[in-house]
Amino acid sequence: MKYNENFLRLSENYLFSEVKRRVEGYKNPPRKILSLGVGDVRLPLSKASIEKMQKGVEDMARAQTFRGYPPAFGYPILQESLKSYYKRFSAFLDEEEFFISDGAKREIVDLLDLFPAGSVAMIPDPTYPVYKDANLLRGNRILYKKGTLANGFLPMPSGEEVDFIYLCNPGNPTGATYTREQLKVWVDYAISQNAVLFYDNAYERFLDEKSTHSIYEIEGAKDCAIEIGSFSKMAGFTGIRLGWTIVPKRMEMLHVLWKRRQAMGQNGVSYISQMAGVGALSKNGLREMEERIAYYTGNRRTIANCMQKLGWWHLQGGAYVWAKCLNGSSSWEFFDALLEKAQIVCTPGVGFGESGEGYIRLSALGEKREVEEACKRLEATAW
Ligand code: PLP
Repeated sequence: MKYNENFLRLSENYLFSEVKRRVEGYKNPPRKILSLGVGDVRLPLSKASIEKMQKGVEDMARAQTFRGYPPAFGYPILQESLKSYYKRFSAFLDEEEFFISDGAKREIVDLLDLFPAGSVAMIPDPTYPVYKDANLLRGNRILYKKGTLANGFLPMPSGEEVDFIYLCNPGNPTGATYTREQLKVWVDYAISQNAVLFYDNAYERFLDEKSTHSIYEIEGAKDCAIEIGSFSKMAGFTGIRLGWTIVPKRMEMLHVLWKRRQAMGQNGVSYISQMAGVGALSKNGLREMEERIAYYTGNRRTIANCMQKLGWWHLQGGAYVWAKCLNGSSSWEFFDALLEKAQIVCTPGVGFGESGEGYIRLSALGEKREVEEACKRLEATAW
């Protein structure tokens, strides 16, 4: 039988299955293994989300308010909530520019339906592995932009000819965050190339007030950028599944084609999930969101302070701390050392791209007590 052989070249599953294999293979650890490797969230949903979901369930239980297939692009009530949310950053968009999705990951893969196979993608390295895998799957050509100590893991363009560009801001796995001026350079570059800028905003809520919260704060972005958003990390929706994609009307054909693609290839997102999103973006929901983010950024600071005390080179931002391995170890060697010496799990940087070799990612998304305990252990261990 014929099949798409590009599937055999994908890398994302390898990273997490290899982490699991090594942890499970570590027999009789002297104490509980603690994880600073988690990409998932721990805190339960906010009250505001739960109340709206309950309302959604009640609507579905009554003949008068029951709903069948949802609108293919999302319920207007959620599109309007997102429109208001974006106004806070002076990003002014129309409701119809928000396409509700069941999360960012699927959208990153599906958006490539808009482009012919063999297109040229510019992808930062290291970064979220799905950008690379989605492009390998389509047989696209990939041009990597290397993050290094010298550029602070914030590579910039230098005139390469490309069809589309990926930016993740703040970055996974490095937490490195572009300034407004740097983002303007990327937007101008995309326009000069007649290229699309895919802006992955999954960690937007972790940014401080002064940072850029949407690519549409940057002049010219509506002509070239598609922004991908997610409720997963901001509202704890990894299990609910809800996100959005913005394809501005100014992108003309791409806006029209994305509508066609979504009308053809899916039947919308569950009413109950969308109601949860409306709750998350309500006044009370946003207040609860702030508390949630303060909890995780508190964890991030705890880890970064620990790195500081130990004198380990590190960056912090978004939901992560990115640290350099000691004594010239490789990512996997240092992963093993952390596991054996301190019974702590991290994520090897090389799993996010070749330029991540020699680094590890530590996640702030875990439970506060466990993060504190892990940091105490790191500080008490002789490295
Ligand atoms: N984009 C980035 C950078 C991520 O780190 C993740 C998840 O870890 C996603 C997208 C996927 O988000 P979602 O849960 O909305 O599919």
